[in-house]
Amino acid sequence: MFIVHPAQKFGDNPVEVRETGHYTEEYVPSFVEKWDSLIDWERRAQSEGDFFIDLLRKRGVKDVLDVATGTGFHSVRLLAAGFETVSADGSAEMLSAAFANGMDHGHVMRVVQADWRWLNRDVHGAYDAIVCLGNSFTHLFSERDRRKALAEFYAMLKHDGILVLDQRNYDAILDDGYTSKHTYYYCGEDVSVEPEYVDEGLVRMRYSFPDDSVYHLNMFPLRKDYTRRLMSEVGFQKIETYGDFQHTYRGEQPDFFVHVAEKE
Ligand code: SAM
Repeated sequence: MFIVHPAQKFGDNPVEVRETGHYTEEYVPSFVEKWDSLIDWERRAQSEGDFFIDLLRKRGVKDVLDVATGTGFHSVRLLAAGFETVSADGSAEMLSAAFANGMDHGHVMRVVQADWRWLNRDVHGAYDAIVCLGNSFTHLFSERDRRKALAEFYAMLKHDGILVLDQRNYDAILDDGYTSKHTYYYCGEDVSVEPEYVDEGLVRMRYSFPDDSVYHLNMFPLRKDYTRRLMSEVGFQKIETYGDFQHTYRGEQPDFFVHVAEKE
């Protein structure tokens, strides 16, 4: 029996696909499975260290809402570290993969399918922290959606809650231009990720795997200071930005930034 996996669909002109709701069609199961099997969680945990766990513990966080659960990497780490964790995502496929991964690691995850733009409708409770990790916020293609999502996150936090949100360093990609595009390698040379098309409104990333399969994700290139400004405009009082899980990022350009936004 043949199992036909749905393919990614970007239509005739992929660089015109700039739509917030398109993420559910980009994370097709074959892509997600490949990613998880090549970048095994142990290696990922080693490279990330305890950055997020230490950060949350230091602030006395107990209840966490993971709004970009994906296949569950951070939710499982948070559960293992003892945080009360609710795992949300807009993709039902991602959540079922996450739930199965949770079981494999000995956790029964509390999962909720919810799009960030209407988070309060589907997720209940108030949280000490919301985490939105793995360069997920980049999937929002209009400023209105970004503001709406941040406002929903803000509303679900307790009065002294924090939002932890990471993003790729798009300033480097946009400012260096398309010609000097940098290829990111994960797992040595096994998976390569490179920007295939870049303008101020779209970075189209190409993911190549050792079996020659290729997938893409269309992302909005968030400039660091723009993300910080939006967070402060929806009401966050203090925003600290880390580079590549380090407190200082002078010198070498980091590949990722992590914003920690405090509500009071
Ligand atoms: N945090 C996970 C990780 O690091 O492995 C997953 C990251 S994955 C790049 C982005 C996730 O965000 C996907 O699971 C996708 O379904 C989810 N997502 C994107 N846009 C969303 C939205 N508007 N509402 C809810 N989930 C969304």
